[in-house]
Amino acid sequence: MKLTNRLRQVPMPKLDVEERIRSFKEVALGYTEEQAIAEAERCLQCKVPRCVEGCPVGVDIPAFIRFIREGKFDEAVEKIKEKNALPAICGRVCPQENQCMGKCILGLKGDPINIGGLERFVADYERKKGFSRPEIKPSTGKSVAVVGSGPAGLTAAAELAKMGHSVTIFEALHAPGGVLMYGIPEFRMPKDIVLSEVNYVKSLGVKIVKDVIIGRVVTLKELFEMGFDAVLLGTGAGLPKFLGIPGENLCGIYSANEFLIRVNLMKAYAFPKYDTPIKVKGRTAVIGGGNVAMDAARSALRLGSDVTVIYRRTEAEMPARREEVLNAKEEGVNFTFLAAPTRFLGDEEGWVRQVECVRMELGEVDDTGRRRPIPIAGSEFHSDFETVVVAIGQRANPIAVLNDPRIKLTRHGTIVVNPETYQTTMEGVYAAGDIVTGNATVISAMGGGKKAAKAIHAFLTGENPKKGR
Ligand code: FAD
Ligand code: SF4
Repeated sequence: MKLTNRLRQVPMPKLDVEERIRSFKEVALGYTEEQAIAEAERCLQCKVPRCVEGCPVGVDIPAFIRFIREGKFDEAVEKIKEKNALPAICGRVCPQENQCMGKCILGLKGDPINIGGLERFVADYERKKGFSRPEIKPSTGKSVAVVGSGPAGLTAAAELAKMGHSVTIFEALHAPGGVLMYGIPEFRMPKDIVLSEVNYVKSLGVKIVKDVIIGRVVTLKELFEMGFDAVLLGTGAGLPKFLGIPGENLCGIYSANEFLIRVNLMKAYAFPKYDTPIKVKGRTAVIGGGNVAMDAARSALRLGSDVTVIYRRTEAEMPARREEVLNAKEEGVNFTFLAAPTRFLGDEEGWVRQVECVRMELGEVDDTGRRRPIPIAGSEFHSDFETVVVAIGQRANPIAVLNDPRIKLTRHGTIVVNPETYQTTMEGVYAAGDIVTGNATVISAMGGGKKAAKAIHAFLTGENPKKGR
């Protein structure tokens, strides 16, 4: 292969910008077989592959890429699924540039291998062909309740079912999938793909009970009384943070969670088929610089608004995936950097009309590793907006623990677990995902779910001498 071909990624086909901004169709279209093989051929098959170190669940990346190169797609799927139960999801939303792709040796001189694109290719190939059922161990006679059906809960449930345990997931919402279903929009994470991954987990024998809030409708104590031998809490970080500035309760100001739940889960974009109300008037300000802010901004744009993202640092410090910032720019989202809202101003009917911001400058590096934004005194300015979406982060979801003081929390509201066993301060109750780490990533939630499943298995079968804490 010519050096220039080796250094340049095979571009991922994308939907045309004009079509993107008029619909919620998926933006990245995925590689064809020929494109996937061509991209796989660039891989150097390193003897000590750095990409594997960068993958939180340790997928054998060179091996699955080698199978793609040889056109052995079934084997490639099998290789990925040894470590990752939800590759169609990870291939689409993992921040690969900071993980496996960030470590790929080709990235030093040119483009790293598009590992996520290749993972997605094989996962989509498998979905079209039909999932094959992995080996399921004989029944252990033990049963586990999993609370929450996000990536942590789904992964743990799949692992536990494969080990021979009977698993029931309890989900508060009317659709399983967690943030994948209610937060990340259709144009980045099509819901039929989430559902097919959920169906794969169900095909392993996992039962899913929807519309049940554990801690309210059924308590943890009652789960044990119902006969469950262990419980995994995977309740996520769904509690929105607010700015705490004057005017934040004006009409037309949404938390990103509420906004995205209305758009995605309640399908407000498919009006009049779904008549979920969402008022996105002329100009929308989205406050924040992460993936959630990009998702909210690009959703508001598709609902017909003129959108500006307001972020208190510069573009270089934005935590959102680069690819999504680029997509947002291509689609026409505006950005105001180095500015932070100080108050919202409304009209006599209580609707937001203006956002007052102060200009910022960057100071010393803070404990997040980024330069701290510092307000510039007297630099306040006003801009007209009729809708505001606050996307400055989420906190741990507190509902599951309301009725059980035996579960200890950190001062951030996340659940305290033993880092080795994932057991909480209550015997037989484990926790994983964002409810333990705080707002993180799909793959880290899956990694936690997988480790917790192993620990629960050890607890149930007596294989683990250190039972919990
Ligand atoms: P969640 O996905 O939050 O799932 C928790 C589930 O538990 C929910 O379904 C909830 O309804 C349910 N639940 C909560 N309490 C109860 C209860 N008491 N009883 C029953 N059920 C309950 N990560 C990435 O890697 N890449 C991205 O591009 C990305 N984009 C994101 C965009 C948005 C808009 C958001 C909000 C997050 C994004 N993330 C992204 C983060 C990622 O989605 C989360 O880190 C991940 O979903 C956490 O998984 P989880 O299983 O811990 O929790
Ligand atoms: Fe291939 Fe890059 Fe991994 Fe090396 S580091 S094995 S080139 S993907």
